[in-house]
Amino acid sequence: MKTVTRVLGAGPAGLAAAIVLARAGHTVEVFERREDCGARFGGDLQGLESFSDGTSVLDELRQVGIDTDFLHKPFDRGFQFNGQRADLHEFGGPAFYLVRRGTMPDAIDQSLKRQALAAGVRIRFGATLPPADADILATGPRGQRPYAVCKGVVFRTDAPDVAVALLDDEAGYKGYSYLLVSDGQGCLCTSLWSDFGRVSHCLTEARRILLARWPMTVHDERSVGGLVHFSGRPRWRDGGALVVGEAAGLQDFLWAFGLRAALRSGVLAAQSLMQGHDYAVLAERTFRPLVRGGIVNRFLWEMGRVGRYAAPMAAFRWRGAGRLMREFYSYNRVQRLLFPLARGYVRAAHPHISL
Ligand SMILES: Cc1cc2nc3c(=O)[nH]c(=O)nc-3n(C[C@H](O)[C@H](O)[C@H](O)COP(=O)(O)OP(=O)(O)OC[C@H]3O[C@@H](n4cnc5c(N)ncnc54)[C@H](O)[C@@H]3O)c2cc1C
Repeated sequence: MKTVTRVLGAGPAGLAAAIVLARAGHTVEVFERREDCGARFGGDLQGLESFSDGTSVLDELRQVGIDTDFLHKPFDRGFQFNGQRADLHEFGGPAFYLVRRGTMPDAIDQSLKRQALAAGVRIRFGATLPPADADILATGPRGQRPYAVCKGVVFRTDAPDVAVALLDDEAGYKGYSYLLVSDGQGCLCTSLWSDFGRVSHCLTEARRILLARWPMTVHDERSVGGLVHFSGRPRWRDGGALVVGEAAGLQDFLWAFGLRAALRSGVLAAQSLMQGHDYAVLAERTFRPLVRGGIVNRFLWEMGRVGRYAAPMAAFRWRGAGRLMREFYSYNRVQRLLFPLARGYVRAAHPHISL
C-alpha cells in the first residue's frame, strides 16, 4: 500500500518539501487552513536573499527542481540611510531578489502552488489536521510572542527602482525601515524589535523621512505587515513530525530575512525523509550559523544603535557590503567568541525569546 506524506501548512517551507517529495514519486497531501497559498500576505515585496553566503538562491532552488517562474527582480545595490547620510552599496552581484508574497499569479507562493499541483500534490484548502497526524509541520509563526513586528504599505509609483534601508530608531525601533521600488511597484515598511506599541509612529516617521529624500508618486496604497518569530533553540521535531521554516523558530534574528531558510529547511526535510537521514541533526548543523550568528548579530546591531547607527554604517563602508554580509552570516570565530556575551544580552533585552 502506498503511504501518504502529510504536510501541515502551504507556505514556502511546506510547499518546497511537498514539491521535492512529489517529484521523487511520493504521494503528498498538504493541509492549508487559509483559502489559498500566500493569503498570509497582501502583495508585500520581500527580499529573497543571496547575500548570506554569496551564492545564488535561484540556482539553489533550481538544483533541487524548484522552478523560479515567479517575479524575482535582482538588486545588486542599495542605499543605507540614517536620515543624514546615504551610502550607496554595490554588492557585485544580486544581493537579493525582490519577490512578491500573496495570492497574485506572479507571487512566489502561487508559483510554488502551481509546481506542487503539477507534481501531483493534493492541496486541501480551508483544512487542517492535528499536528500529531502530520509528517511535516510547516505552519509558520506559532505559539510564542513575536520578536519583531512589521507594518507598511504597498503602492504603485512611477519612480525608478530603488532599495533603501533606513536606520533610525524613530522610524524602526531596534530594527530598520525600508523603501523598495521595482518596476512601478513600491513597498515602504517599518520593523520594530521591541516596544511594538510604537509601530504606527515609526511608520509615519519612516514615510516622512524616506519620501522626503526619495520623493515619489504613491497610488493605490494598501496596508501590509505581520509578525515574525524566532527561537534560539529551534524545535526540529514535534512528536513524529519534522518541523520546518518559521514553525521551527527558524528566522534571521538580525533582519528577518527568513524566506530562504524556510525553503531550504523544507527541502532538507524532504530529502531526509527520502534518504532516511536524521533531519534534526542535519538541520541543527545547517542552520547553526543562522541561529547562533543571529543572536550575536542582534547583540551587535543593538549595541550599534548609538549615534544613528554610525558604527554599523562605518563597518559597511570599511568592509564592503557584500563581504560584511557574508561575515555576518558565517558564524565565524569572532562571533563564536562573542556568543556567550550576546546570549546574556538577548536574555535580558528580549526575555520572551527561548535561547
Ligand atoms: C511583514 C513581513 C516581511 C517579511 N519580509 C521578509 C523579507 O524581505 N525577506 C525574507 O527572507 N523574509 C521576510 N519575512 C519572513 C518570511 O515571510 C518568513 O520567514 C516565511 O514566510 C516563512 O515561511 P514558512 O513557510 O515557514 O511560514 P508561512 O509563510 O507563515 O507559511 C505557513 C503556512 O501555514 C498555514 N498554517 C498555519 N497554521 C496552520 C494549521 N494549523 N493548519 C493548516 N495550515 C496552517 C498558514 O496559513 C501559512 O500559509 C517577512 C515576514 C513578514 C511578516
